Amino acid sequence: MSCKGKTTRSSSKCGKIVYQCKYCRSVGCDRSKHDECSNQNFYNGTCKKCGKAGAKGKHL
Ligand SMILES: [Zn+2]
Ligand SMILES: [Zn+2]
Repeated sequence: MSCKGKTTRSSSKCGKIVYQCKYCRSVGCDRSKHDECSNQNFYNGTCKKCGKAGAKGKHL
């Protein structure tokens, strides 16, 4: 599944792969910078919700 969020900088469709957190099951895409996408849930593999590193589970 590709991300349906919008990038905060250009408001274009994100389209990145969406992952689910292994720990808290939050869903979103992975970005190298904070708040790049309205549907972002990971920052370099760290979950933004629960804060655990390497939390990226299976992609949806
Ligand atoms: Zn996204
Ligand atoms: Zn999490």
